[in-house]
Amino acid sequence: MRVRFAPAPTGYLHLGGARTALFNWLLAKQHQGKFILRVEDTDIKRSTQESVQVILDSLNWLGITWDEGPYFQSERIHIYKEYIEKLLQENKAYYCYCTPEELKAQRQEALESPDRPAYDGRCQNLSLAQRQEYESGGRKPVVRFQILPGMTTVNDLIRGELTFDNKLLGDFIILKSDGMPTYNFACIIDDALMEITHVIRGEDHISNTPRQILLSQALGFKLPIFAHLPLILGTDKTPLSKRHGDVAIGHYIQEGYLPEALVNYLALLGWSTSDSQQIISGSELVVKFSLERVSKNPAIFDLEKLRWLNGEYIKGLDIDTLTGLCGKYLNKIENRKSKIENRKFKEIVRLFQERMRTLGDFVERARFFFVDTGSLVYEPEAMTLLTKNGVSEIMEQVKTKLSQLSSFTPDSIEMCIRRLAEELRIKAADIIHPLRAALTGSKVSPGIFEVVALLGKKIVTERISKVLKN
Ligand code: GLU
Repeated sequence: MRVRFAPAPTGYLHLGGARTALFNWLLAKQHQGKFILRVEDTDIKRSTQESVQVILDSLNWLGITWDEGPYFQSERIHIYKEYIEKLLQENKAYYCYCTPEELKAQRQEALESPDRPAYDGRCQNLSLAQRQEYESGGRKPVVRFQILPGMTTVNDLIRGELTFDNKLLGDFIILKSDGMPTYNFACIIDDALMEITHVIRGEDHISNTPRQILLSQALGFKLPIFAHLPLILGTDKTPLSKRHGDVAIGHYIQEGYLPEALVNYLALLGWSTSDSQQIISGSELVVKFSLERVSKNPAIFDLEKLRWLNGEYIKGLDIDTLTGLCGKYLNKIENRKSKIENRKFKEIVRLFQERMRTLGDFVERARFFFVDTGSLVYEPEAMTLLTKNGVSEIMEQVKTKLSQLSSFTPDSIEMCIRRLAEELRIKAADIIHPLRAALTGSKVSPGIFEVVALLGKKIVTERISKVLKN
C-alpha cells in the first residue's frame, strides 16, 4: 500500500486536512505500506514557504511522519510538461485561446441549458494559421483535455459506485496560460508516477475524480483505488470553517491540547469502532482503523467533546510529565511573579489535574497562584460574595484564626475553619465561599483547604487584608 497526503501550501494545516493525513497514515502503518508527503504548490501566487513549514510542523506535532517526500510539485514541472506534450501529440488535448470574456459568455449560455458543459469546445479544431493569428495578437493559450462522450464511474471504497456523464465535465484545462499544470493534471501524474495505490481524500474532491480517471486512462496509467472521506460539519450542521472558531491545528497546539488527544479525536471524525469506543490510543488506532467503518454521513466537529477527551488524556498523564507541560505555559500568565519552587509548582499542578481540560485552562484557572496580591483580578461574582452583609466580620475572624495556626496543612486549616463556623454559629460554606473569592478572585477553585495551604500563611493573610480594606 502506498498512500499520500497532498496539501496545497496556501495556509495552515486545518482539522480536515489533518484528518485526511491521519487516515492515510494509519492505513500505511497498518499495512506496513508507505505514507508519502507531496506538497502541491503549483499555484505560485498563493503558495508560500511559510505555509509549507506550518504544515510540516503541525504534522510532526501530531506524530504523523512520512516515509517519502516531501516532494514539491513546483520542482516537477518538466515532468508534467512531457505528459502535456504527449496528450497534444496524440490529439487528446488542444490549445485554447478563449479570453476571459468569451469564457464568461459561454458559461452564461451553459447555465441556460443545463445539459451543456461550461466550455463548448470551440478551440478544438483550430488550424495552425488561426493559432498563429491569436498568438501574434498577444493571446496566451491554455491546454485543454478533450473529453470523449460516455459515462465515467468512480468506484469509491466508502461511497460505492458514482457515475458521471462525461458531457457535463467539459474539456477542462490541464495547463494554465502561465505554464503551470492544473491541480487535476499534476495530481494524477504524480499519483501514477509515485505508484499511489489508494487515494484517500476529502469528499470535496469527488467532482475531480472522474476527470482524473479520464486523464489516467488517456495516458494509460493504472488507476488507484479511491476513497472519499465524509465532510466535517460544525454543530450547526454547516461545513466546518473559520466561522466555527479556529480550525488550524496550530491553534490547538497553542491552546494546550495534547497531540495524542487530538489524534484520537480526529480519528473519530467519520470513523468509529463497532462498540463506539471513545478513548483509543495511537497504537490501538493503527490496529483497529479500517476504511470499511468510515461513514458516508458527515462528521460533526464538537469542541466540547474534544475538550473532554483532552481532559481524559491529561488525567492519565503522570504528574511529572504534566508538570513539565504546564511549565511551558507559565509564560502566558500576565504579571507572573518571577519564581516558584518546583515542589510547590508540582503540587499546584496536581491540584488542577482532574479539572483542567487543556493546558491553557491551567493558565486561566491557576493564575491566582502565580501573581502578586496586587495583580489579582476579581470576577464580578467573587465581588458579590465579598460585599455581602456580615462578610467582613467573618473574614476578619478567619484571618486571625489562620494566622495563629502553627501547622499550615490542609487538615489543620479545615479543622480551624470548621471550628470557627461552630463558634460563630454559621455554616462552614459561609466562610469558605467568601474566603475562596478573597484568595482566588473567583467563585470556583480546587479544594479550598489545599488552596489555602499552598498559598501559604503570608499570602493568605495579605489577600484577606486587601479585601477588608476595599
Ligand atoms: N492539493 C489538494 C488539496 O489540498 C489535494 C487533494 C488530493 O488529495 O488529491 O486539497
